[in-house]
Amino acid sequence: MILLKKFLTCLSLLIIFTLAATNTALAKPAEITGINAFDLDNETVRIEISYRGGQIDNSNVSTDLTSGILSVELNNTLPGRVSRVSGTQIEAGARNLIDKIFANETQPKHTKIQIQFKSLLEGDVNVSFEPSNRSARKADRVVIDVKIAGVQDESFYNFDGGDKVIVLDPGHGGSDAGAIGPSGVTEKYVSLMVSLKARELLKASGYQVVMTRTTDVDVAAPGVPDSTELQARVDKAPSNAELFISVHCNAFSNGKANGMETYHAPTAVKGARLARLLNEELERLGGLNNRGVKAARFYVMTHSQCPASLIELGFITNPQEEKLLASDDYQQKLAQAITNAVNRYFNQGGFD
Ligand SMILES: [Zn+2]
Repeated sequence: MILLKKFLTCLSLLIIFTLAATNTALAKPAEITGINAFDLDNETVRIEISYRGGQIDNSNVSTDLTSGILSVELNNTLPGRVSRVSGTQIEAGARNLIDKIFANETQPKHTKIQIQFKSLLEGDVNVSFEPSNRSARKADRVVIDVKIAGVQDESFYNFDGGDKVIVLDPGHGGSDAGAIGPSGVTEKYVSLMVSLKARELLKASGYQVVMTRTTDVDVAAPGVPDSTELQARVDKAPSNAELFISVHCNAFSNGKANGMETYHAPTAVKGARLARLLNEELERLGGLNNRGVKAARFYVMTHSQCPASLIELGFITNPQEEKLLASDDYQQKLAQAITNAVNRYFNQGGFD
């Protein structure tokens, strides 16, 4: 995990490049055919955006590096294959720094590319255009170099929540026990205990916390359809809620299945960042296998009005993990991991 120093300064770097427009009468838009990221040297990550069939309006390329997301706006372009083949995201790896890349046509012939780094990045961004090079098997491309500043600081865990509203959703409850472990520990119990502990820690950090439930109850009513129950949870979030975190435990028929994982809605950039931070903090706890950060269409994530993540704390069907999940000590650690992730989410730039 790579963390960054001096994260409070230079969080946002907005650079507008005004290059000489070679051709203002832009005709055919360029189709973006691929995005490739790699280490140029020890401190520079290079991102190459290849295109063909047209000309990118190079007179007005803007980049914005904020909160670990580098946004690149390209005029006279179509996201092309990048979005068609891979939905709106592709995986790329450069020095283990890049988590995901999203490409979307946000306006007609206008592509917004968002490169999500695993941690806050502070650094200089430089953009240039390179022509195709047959011998190097390179297409026409936009080249973006991100020179990375220092790393490693723990102070970003200290954050004053300033009354920001966080919604905690303990999964299941009441008539719905959720998954049940081999010795009878229920998912609804673990999710509630961890959420109640996280509530106390978050409140101590200055946040306001809204819980979808604080006791062992159905949020809507017993026996209603799942979508009704889940919508009732989404509806608990006030309009000024900043984050929605749904807490669950995993289950599988084979008791050997193990580990934790975190989820976000498929194209939710902020939700993905929240899920990444939750995943990093759960991993910092140690102990459990990290199954990763995943995209899924879980109801509470796709219907939430604010960035949302669903976390699977571990497998309650695994005897060892069931024991851990039931322990007060481990629940407290999980609550601390959630709080740390929330603090980092805001402390590393916020998203206002
Ligand atoms: Zn569940």
